[in-house]
Amino acid sequence: MAFFFLVKCPSCGNKMKYHSTTKILSGKKKRCVYCGRSFSVKDHVLNEI
Ligand SMILES: [Zn+2]
Repeated sequence: MAFFFLVKCPSCGNKMKYHSTTKILSGKKKRCVYCGRSFSVKDHVLNEI
């Protein structure tokens, strides 16, 4: 299974896609492609795409 989510970086505010094989996002981290900071996916997901 593949799920795509739109996430927003809390540090720089840029939006990007996040790919996951599960809808359960708790504990998942993403490194921002713009500023390089890591953030919690679950807390900054905007919607599923
Ligand atoms: Zn960022």
